[in-house]
Amino acid sequence: MKYYSLNRNSEQASFSEAVIRGIAPDKGLYFPESITPLPDAFINELEKLDNDEIAFNAIRQFVGNEIPENELKKIVAETLSFDFPLCEIEDDVFALELFHGPTMAFKDVGARFMARCLGYFNRNRKSEEKVTVLVATSGDTGGAVASGFLGVEGVEVIILYPSGKVSDIQERQLTTLGQNIIALEVNGTFDDCQDMVKTAFLDEKLSGKQLTSANSINVARWLPQMFYFFFAYKQLKNKEKEVVFAVPSGNFGNICAGIMAGKLGLPVYHFVAATNINDTVPQYLHNGIYEPKPSKQTISNAMDVGNPSNFVRIQQLFDNDIKTLKSRFSSYSFTDLETREAMKSIYQSSGYIADPHGAVGYLGLKEYLKDKTSKTGIFLETAHPVKFLDIVEDTLDTRIAIPEQIQAVMEKEKVKQGISTYEELREFLLKY
Ligand SMILES: *Cc1c(COP(=O)(O)O)cnc(C)c1O
Repeated sequence: MKYYSLNRNSEQASFSEAVIRGIAPDKGLYFPESITPLPDAFINELEKLDNDEIAFNAIRQFVGNEIPENELKKIVAETLSFDFPLCEIEDDVFALELFHGPTMAFKDVGARFMARCLGYFNRNRKSEEKVTVLVATSGDTGGAVASGFLGVEGVEVIILYPSGKVSDIQERQLTTLGQNIIALEVNGTFDDCQDMVKTAFLDEKLSGKQLTSANSINVARWLPQMFYFFFAYKQLKNKEKEVVFAVPSGNFGNICAGIMAGKLGLPVYHFVAATNINDTVPQYLHNGIYEPKPSKQTISNAMDVGNPSNFVRIQQLFDNDIKTLKSRFSSYSFTDLETREAMKSIYQSSGYIADPHGAVGYLGLKEYLKDKTSKTGIFLETAHPVKFLDIVEDTLDTRIAIPEQIQAVMEKEKVKQGISTYEELREFLLKY
């Protein structure tokens, strides 16, 4: 499979080149040059297949022959070594739980898949040169990347996070692993971390290093998220009704992967991207003007994104035509107050504890379905409520048991280095 840059000013790249570079030389996002639907027989038989088989068939064409079949099967199996349950919380309303992985956020699947692909390419490059994964995190990405890449040979991971702005659990998830994972605590905001990473990618003094990104712009992190939508559909007992997916969205990578699943033939009636008050996309659908804004802080902070990087991919999937886009895709924005109210009403009516991100997804689903009958609605529950412990306990006035994955990191010691300026980051990268 070849990938082209959506800025259309770079040469095409193979899958491995796209993974190792992260972003095209012209700063465009990579996009597959073709998307071939899967056979109807495959879609009709999903419930007879196990998750590994489904995932292998869904991702195969995007990897092409750059990873042999048996290796790719192994990568998929290692990536998916946990469950993705679909829970009915109201009649025809389901939560798809994506938080049963090692860091209890949905980003585990993308991070694990990318780490293993990179590991495979490194083993076969026979070069001494290490790949450095440089990643800025506002919370969840860092932990998932740290855990996914731990111990992968030939790869070092450097995570930048804003001092005092990630939760204690999140900080522990990225500072306690050691080995090839290094945490840099930045005296600044998440935007400062992201700026430093972007500057490093452009810095000629670092041209001797093979730097790559592990954000959802990387095709190996973005594409495996398609699997969720197949897994959800497979678990539906009643497939007579049309299916609507609602995805709590920040950088819009997850929902973009869902739309890819639709392109591959998964029967999805409509996609809903639910956001917090960072409403660049809902505004665009409303008035046709795409106007990125600085991000605003909310209780669903993994979605505090003012300029969603994957939206260009979504536009491409709808032939850059806003009318086609609107016929299959809606986007709504919700306040923190509405989010907390939704968490309460879900808890009161069903006993289900939603985290703030899942609650935003639920709100988006309900908004779209309010004047429609007999559809099946599925919202993605992207993080375990324990990841947002204070907000959830405070909103629902209840206590949440700490799962063992989290308990394990609570006992380990944080190891990190502080930096304040880009020059300090460069010096660190050159020395390391
Ligand atoms: C990253 C994240 C999101 C947003 O996903 P995108 O693919 O960036 O839209 C939603 N919820 C949680 C918990 C996340 O960590």
